[in-house]
Amino acid sequence: MANVPTKQQLLDELKERIEQANITPELKKQATQLVFGDGNPEADIVFIGEAPGKNEDEQGKPFVGAAGKFLNEMLEMIGLQRENIYITNIVKYRPPNNRDPLPDEKEAFLPYLQEQLDIIAPKLIVTLGRHSMDVLLPGLKISQVHGQPKRYKDQVYLPLFHPAAALYNGGMRQTLIDDFALIPAILQKIKN
Ligand code: URA
Repeated sequence: MANVPTKQQLLDELKERIEQANITPELKKQATQLVFGDGNPEADIVFIGEAPGKNEDEQGKPFVGAAGKFLNEMLEMIGLQRENIYITNIVKYRPPNNRDPLPDEKEAFLPYLQEQLDIIAPKLIVTLGRHSMDVLLPGLKISQVHGQPKRYKDQVYLPLFHPAAALYNGGMRQTLIDDFALIPAILQKIKN
């Protein structure tokens, strides 16, 4: 009988396929490496950021710089560790000088992100910032919908502000912390 591949094996195979495909050749050329994703493939929650920055590009892992440190602190506030969640970005090569990802770069990575999410099949997808919200929940305004769970095509999403944007903005920082605190109850509701 054939062995059923694990989620980790399917993710490894997807990562290899992305590395071999010629997606965003300009970004690929300038980046140190692909930043595919990190955490637990069996997690109930997946967080999706924008694109790798300098530290992520060097280490090959998402959210390992200042924004990642803030994210870890907020996870801890709700009793979670990085090992309990899965985290990735829409665009998986670092844009030069941390510029915003371009529409065609987001579009190029979208089918691969979708495949990654289909493999993990989380109960809740948390988008961080407007870029990841836009590709998964089109037509919304982050300032109006942050912290409100949205059901779209049989999947529950929670759009949040991006931790890097909130890091040095007192008001937004507290809003993000307050929105984060909603996560356990939202997840519990989905499970019931
Ligand atoms: N910001 C992101 O959106 N992603 C990272 O991986 C790091 C910072």
